[in-house]
Amino acid sequence: MSHQILLYYSYAHVQDADALAERQRILCAELGLKGRIIVAREGINGTLEGTFENTESYITACSAEPAFKDVVFKRSEGTGNAFKKLFVRVRPEIVSSHLGERDVDPNRITGKRLLAEELHEWIRSDREFYIVDMRNDYEHAVGHFEGSILPPMGNFRELPDALPTLEHLKDKTVVTVCTGGVRCEKASGFLVENGFGDVWQLQDGIVTYMEKYPNQDFKGALYVFDGRVTMAFNREDPSYEVVGRCVLCGNPSEHYVNCANDECHKHIICCESCVARNGGLPLCGREHLLVTGR
Ligand SMILES: [Zn+2]
Ligand SMILES: [Zn+2]
Repeated sequence: MSHQILLYYSYAHVQDADALAERQRILCAELGLKGRIIVAREGINGTLEGTFENTESYITACSAEPAFKDVVFKRSEGTGNAFKKLFVRVRPEIVSSHLGERDVDPNRITGKRLLAEELHEWIRSDREFYIVDMRNDYEHAVGHFEGSILPPMGNFRELPDALPTLEHLKDKTVVTVCTGGVRCEKASGFLVENGFGDVWQLQDGIVTYMEKYPNQDFKGALYVFDGRVTMAFNREDPSYEVVGRCVLCGNPSEHYVNCANDECHKHIICCESCVARNGGLPLCGREHLLVTGR
């Protein structure tokens, strides 16, 4: 592996977010790392790419920072161009939930933690529980836990609106899942706050589960917010399944595009041949396409 991508977060109170952001900028520049880091008073959330050696040096250097005390770095293979630049930003939240008054502090209230090993065992037991996918619909489309429930969310901010669709799970055992675990910290806390009795969150996220149990209960690829678009462990294994489907022809595909309609731009899976058939313009298949006459 020549390049490596790191994914991490921590809900640890940050005294001086601006100062931490500045130290991160300097450190990443020194090591030639690119990616995105969000620093807030509530914690830090980052995804970075660099050479294998430099990303490992980054991990070592960060161990001196109190905000990184509980960080678990998720490592995966990079491409060398997963990110164009380095962005380090100070924001009010490390994941924008826009929960406003309904915001939950994961340090105070959050779901119980379930290790990948435990979920693996639960799936193989006769325990009754429901996996709720806290990611966006377009992320779920290319890979997900078999039988998982997807609340109708085009964006994490829509969680409060999607809550009524989960009402029937209030007295059940619920396990929330997301990419690296950070969204579940708030999402699971939000469920607890709203009267859900037995809420668990998949510790360290889907990425960790996939690494430990590739091509098992999580089928397909993992959507990632970098130049790779999707990632998987052991993709070349015959047990790997393409779960994504082209919105137009329904054939298996993992080809993500944005709808070319200017009023739409919906992020969709549309296979190469359908894109080619539309003269290179990916279209989501909604009625508006006919109106534009394409
Ligand atoms: Zn197609
Ligand atoms: Zn469209």
